[in-house]
Amino acid sequence: MIIKKAPIPKIAIIPLSQDTGTLAKPIVRPNSYVKVGTKIGEPQDNLSTAIYSSISGVVKSIEPRVHPMGGNCLSVVIESDGKDEEVRPQSELLTPITDNEPVIERVVAVKGDVKKPKTLLVRIGTPFKELIEFCGGYISEPQKIIMNNPITGIAQFTDTVPVIKTTKEIWVQNIADLPLDKHCIRCGFCVEACSIGLLPKMIVDYMMSGKMEKAKELGLMDCIECANCAFVCPAKRNLIHWIMYGKAKLYASGGNRTHITSSGG
Ligand code: SF4
Ligand code: SF4
Repeated sequence: MIIKKAPIPKIAIIPLSQDTGTLAKPIVRPNSYVKVGTKIGEPQDNLSTAIYSSISGVVKSIEPRVHPMGGNCLSVVIESDGKDEEVRPQSELLTPITDNEPVIERVVAVKGDVKKPKTLLVRIGTPFKELIEFCGGYISEPQKIIMNNPITGIAQFTDTVPVIKTTKEIWVQNIADLPLDKHCIRCGFCVEACSIGLLPKMIVDYMMSGKMEKAKELGLMDCIECANCAFVCPAKRNLIHWIMYGKAKLYASGGNRTHITSSGG
């Protein structure tokens, strides 16, 4: 496998939660100078981890930004000063990380509908958009961008989201890759299968007709993204995709992300 180094981002967006844990507490301020590996977030409990700067530069802001696992997350936005030192020599790209070493980069495969798919060594906080551009850009108008694999990964509604510790792949899909959204045959299987008693068919129908408030009233934000509804649907409707998209949209329009959701496609 050939791994190329991705360019260091001009602006790194580093979420203060990058896993299923609680938010770390920011310990830098706007205008603080940070180096590669400077601790910028302090864990608050046993469920949160320390967060480190992946580039050297100046903290521009600490504010909610869209998180690739859904919703908004308080993030440290750092502008590179261009004086970034080399973190690891090329020959050591796959050297295992040792204890207490800050995680500031990871290997990410950019695949699908991009001109030159590549496997890259990427600084945490690099926006997906910059990596896609480094891979020659989109071949056609992207229809879907997924973090990690197309079955269990998470669909994104913007390519401005940053790489986090759990990003392994960025998949770009075009219209031909997407299953057509089939018509509901009203079998009711999704309702029987829902782990928490929602009406997935109705929620998605409301969303598809732009009635977000109605979808919310039916419990859109309560969905635990177990994907049971999509699994049993004989018409193979994209139920979970619509639900995750709707939740992310509602979070982005004002709801703050308090935890990270998982699963889904
Ligand atoms: S993904 Fe949501 S709506 Fe679908 S079965 Fe699970 S909880 Fe119910
Ligand atoms: S399982 Fe699929 S086809 Fe059946 S009611 Fe639900 S959405 Fe419609």
